[in-house]
Amino acid sequence: MKFGGTSVADSDRIKNAARRIVAAREAGNRVVAVLSAQGKTTDALVSQANEISERPVTREMDMLLSTGERISCALAAMAIHDLGHEAISLTGSQAGILTDTSHTKARIVDVRADRIAAALDDNKIVLVAGFQGVSTDSKDVTTLGRGGSDTTAVAVAAALKADVCEIYTDVDGVFNADPRIVPNARMLPVVSFEEVLEMSASGAGVLQLRSIEYARNHGVRIHCRSSFHDRTGTMVVSQEETMEQPLVTAVTHATNEARVTVRGVPDRPGVAGELFTKLADANINVDMIIQNESMGMDHPAEMTFTVPKDDLAVALDTLHAMGEFDDVDSDPSMGKVSVIGAGMRSHPGVAAKVFTVLGQQGINLEMISTSPIKISCVIDGERVGDAVKALHDAFELGVAEEQATGDFRPVAP
Ligand code: ASP
Ligand code: MG
Repeated sequence: MKFGGTSVADSDRIKNAARRIVAAREAGNRVVAVLSAQGKTTDALVSQANEISERPVTREMDMLLSTGERISCALAAMAIHDLGHEAISLTGSQAGILTDTSHTKARIVDVRADRIAAALDDNKIVLVAGFQGVSTDSKDVTTLGRGGSDTTAVAVAAALKADVCEIYTDVDGVFNADPRIVPNARMLPVVSFEEVLEMSASGAGVLQLRSIEYARNHGVRIHCRSSFHDRTGTMVVSQEETMEQPLVTAVTHATNEARVTVRGVPDRPGVAGELFTKLADANINVDMIIQNESMGMDHPAEMTFTVPKDDLAVALDTLHAMGEFDDVDSDPSMGKVSVIGAGMRSHPGVAAKVFTVLGQQGINLEMISTSPIKISCVIDGERVGDAVKALHDAFELGVAEEQATGDFRPVAP
């Protein structure tokens, strides 16, 4: 059972999470709970670090950020004791979460869950601090990237061969668009790994991308549901288990994209390789890439790509340091809208419809990229909301009126 930041935001909610954990235990299950930091704790710690230092040393950043999750776990263990059950809280390191050494974005390399297993055998409820581990190399504390508690939960579930990994959150499940933008967005009772991977990669915030990859690779069943009520939520299942393949399953968006244009890229083999190797070495995830071919022999080319807004400064530093290009230009205020659906693989015309709908809205397409089950367009960041609404509407993804006020609405905590 994994509880996100909102679900443990204050003492009452920690007690509520503790009650749910205890109820699962009393129903006869062995329970491990992975907790996030309370509310906006991690954001607050990041701000604090930035007050002290412009570029905080990443090792110390991880020492700092990993504390939030430990607080949640210790408090929840106390609450569980008061409910008459034995509980023990563990840091990521104590729980055997082993990672590489890329501080603030570490990857789990192994989970040695013997200590968790022993505590379970001892009839204890185990609380594991999410979002953190320990480097096998340096023995330093690491963190797994924002939203990383999801990945901790999936990794622990995989290591223990758990029946299910339940992700308790502040929404009812996985929606087919952001309900804050599209009020009649629909909750998906079932979604395939491949679709939810594309959704998460293109901006949907429900689950950390890596957690879905990990779950798919290790065959972990994910059940995403609300911590505030008992309704079923969303099951993430394999492609074979999904009954139908709708043409379009979801519309997602992101507003944290920055566009970089590099002019005067020398027209010779290997240049793109060098450029993107440098960016990769700086740990920057490049998303969409377009190259405009040069206008004839020996003329320089132009390369445009997107990076997360937070990585823009480092990306620009890296490119300038290469000193090979005429000009590097950037726009930090881009947005991206994506349409995802396993059914589009075998149906023509989805891209045409997406472009037509956006055109009717007077939205200019700056860049386009596709996968077999996704069409993404980079557009002006300010128009993202309009784009999502228009596409959700055009593909008829909304809930019927009566449902909109019924089962699917989030319930106040
Ligand atoms: N507390 C961390 C964050 O805010 C990890 C998580 O919540 O999953 O990103
Ligand atoms: Mg989260």
